Amino acid sequence: MAIATINPTTGETIAAFEPHDAAEVERRIAEAQAAYVALRATTFAQRAEWMLRAAALLEEEAEATAHMLTVEMGKPIAQARAEVLKCAKNMRYYAQHAETFLADEILDDPAAVTASHASARYEPLGVVLAVMPWNYPLWQVIRFAAPALMAGNTGLLKHASNVPQAALYLDTLFDRAGFPAGSFRTLLIGAREVASVLEDRRVKAVTLTGSEPAGRSVAATAGSQIKKAVLELGGSDPFIVMPSADIDAASTTAVKARVANNGQSCIAAKRFIVHAEVYDTFAQMFAAKMAALTVGDPRDESTDVGPLATEGGRNELAELVDDAVSQGATILTGGATPDRRGWFYTPTLLADLTDDMRLVMEEAFGPVATLYKVADREEAVRIANQTTFGLSSSVWTADADEEAWFVRALDAGAVFVNGMTVSYPELPFGGIKDSGYGRELAAAGIREFCNLKTVWKA
Ligand code: NAP
Repeated sequence: MAIATINPTTGETIAAFEPHDAAEVERRIAEAQAAYVALRATTFAQRAEWMLRAAALLEEEAEATAHMLTVEMGKPIAQARAEVLKCAKNMRYYAQHAETFLADEILDDPAAVTASHASARYEPLGVVLAVMPWNYPLWQVIRFAAPALMAGNTGLLKHASNVPQAALYLDTLFDRAGFPAGSFRTLLIGAREVASVLEDRRVKAVTLTGSEPAGRSVAATAGSQIKKAVLELGGSDPFIVMPSADIDAASTTAVKARVANNGQSCIAAKRFIVHAEVYDTFAQMFAAKMAALTVGDPRDESTDVGPLATEGGRNELAELVDDAVSQGATILTGGATPDRRGWFYTPTLLADLTDDMRLVMEEAFGPVATLYKVADREEAVRIANQTTFGLSSSVWTADADEEAWFVRALDAGAVFVNGMTVSYPELPFGGIKDSGYGRELAAAGIREFCNLKTVWKA
């Protein structure tokens, strides 16, 4: 895949970049290793000062950076701005809390011996490789980079090939903020070069956010090298609506949860599972609100849904819909590729799904929602849990017992009640099953790439 910015709104190539050759990759790994030696010797206070400066730079440059994201991958400009500011918030969060999260833990004396001291301390691992996707070109990276650098690790970024400008922006951000040069370096390389970087003895661990095939491949290399891996992969999150829910609020949030980022979010609600008692009302409201969305140029402030990031992604989405429709699914709204340049797809709601349709088990990475009618909570959970994914989930109910029942029964890394799934710096984030393993954000996120060293003294 060429490393290039291709504007998805027009299909025009804006800029193309030469991949780094082997010598440049070596130079950058060496730089990241040297930066690690320097960074691990610094104090939390020093790293926090640099991290806060990086956050301030992001805020100062928010408008130009948001514009870059919108041109590079097509997200509506207001959402691009929000992404930049969310990154700054996450950096401030870890600047403030890293020292507490990684404080030494004093341990009880082991029963059989009397130690004068037993404790556990968190130490950095070294250079960590980050393989990242294009859908949130800054957020996915900062979600890893802020805690990693605050812990004293350094990072090497292999970003998605279609967001090189975001990758190069991140290449200089932390240097400019004062971190030792090379603390966070971009490698302009293709997916095929990832394995050899991960095999390098100076690279100690890997985090990957992306698709299941990429996750399997990187996890296999990490396994063969006995290196720690965190995987944040795909999802097909359920959104369950029970009779006691506020149907108007649920249908409004359903639209937002499905089409945010032009429908290209791992934690987007993708399957809408609705109790028969409220199914017709919900379906009618949801379809009307999806149909009312403004599809257009993402640089226009009034646009709700822009193009998909790549032509291939748009074509795959259209294939999933066509497969379902050819097997009897009903289109309640959308279901078409608009007749305009760029890689657009109309916000779509489908009903009458059957198990042999690909859309039932596969992830729809675009503004396409599927509706399921269920008789009771048991059937809702059976459908919710039937995919191979287990990222997050959302349940709408006003009944406390029912809420507790769903929280226990759903196979997912998170359950959001009467709201959509959102990632917050304060909440652990990650999945189970084929959605991956490990956690990002909160205290759990910063501890993933640390050596938990036990210290015992007689
Ligand atoms: P992708 O094709 O897997 O790409 C992600 C990254 O992995 C890119 O940098 C890509 O490089 C690289 N890559 C692809 N195949 C690889 C391989 N065999 N070995 C090593 N690296 C490889 O995913 P995407 O299409 O960009 O992103 C969409 C997917 O990411 C969706 O499934 C979505 O649900 C998931 N996602 C998950 C989360 C989460 O937190 N769980 C968040 C966002 C997105 P190239 O670009 O050079 O191919």
